[in-house]
Amino acid sequence: MKCSRCDRDAVIFIRYNGEHLCAEHFMEFLESRVKHELRKQVDLKPGDRIVVGTSGGKDSTTTVYLLKKIFSMRRDIEIIAVTIDEGIEGYRDRAIGVLSGYLKKIGVEHRIYRIKERFGKTIDEIAMMDKTLIPCTYCGVFRRSLLNSAARELDADYVATGLNLDDTAQSIIMNFARGDLDRLARLGPHSVVKEDLIPRIQPLRMIPEKEVLLYAILRGIEFYHGTCPYADLALRNQFRKAIDEWEARSPGTRHSIVSVYDELKPLLIERYRNFKLNRCEICGDPTPGRICKACELRLRLDKIQNL
Ligand SMILES: [Zn+2]
Ligand SMILES: [Zn+2]
Repeated sequence: MKCSRCDRDAVIFIRYNGEHLCAEHFMEFLESRVKHELRKQVDLKPGDRIVVGTSGGKDSTTTVYLLKKIFSMRRDIEIIAVTIDEGIEGYRDRAIGVLSGYLKKIGVEHRIYRIKERFGKTIDEIAMMDKTLIPCTYCGVFRRSLLNSAARELDADYVATGLNLDDTAQSIIMNFARGDLDRLARLGPHSVVKEDLIPRIQPLRMIPEKEVLLYAILRGIEFYHGTCPYADLALRNQFRKAIDEWEARSPGTRHSIVSVYDELKPLLIERYRNFKLNRCEICGDPTPGRICKACELRLRLDKIQNL
């Protein structure tokens, strides 16, 4: 099959817009959509610093690569990759090995923050201790908390993450299914800046996961291929499966989910405009309740330990 835009052989068929694309035109197509997203999401000023939450997997490593490439002409924009090390043996340590080498190669500063140092236990240790809550619950909350505090410590203006279109559609449907409207209103990217919460940017949010993978391979981006040993436990899996089925039957479903959400978002934000975040009584982090989720989980661990 030939490329719809030139004489070269196509490497991919983009089902939702009916185009066959060669490697060159596919990379150009992906990059132009990422640039378009960035223009929509941020208005960078000289001296701005972007912290990228980077796990070493394809999505976040590609995000670092693209930000570096897109802003290569702007020496006044600083990019720092931050990895949260959950302490999952045989997984995160290997990912960090691949990632550190690659970041050195492309000249991006790398910082590592460890869940054990901040919360006293690795996710492996927590998984052994707590037999009712899945480790992903701890991992998600602790990672988010640590990434936020790392970004504050590094004086970041933005926190970028590698969320792709599939992840974004899953998060939207998950919050719908749980009836979590207020959470739905707070999903990134953030246009309204709340005190102490550094705005999130998601350059890949309109790029399907498969396209991110193909792009990473074509560009020779070095990333870690392994999957988390706890991944089978994640609640997200059922939503992933459902959305994959919808997409297979009606291509474009993921895009529609995200576009409809974007249309609804101003209404949600308006509804929760006066929604005040409190300070956690223990650590001072912003939280909708009295005690933040991270402190709540830490107290739970203390209780389990003292049983
Ligand atoms: Zn072409
Ligand atoms: Zn707290």
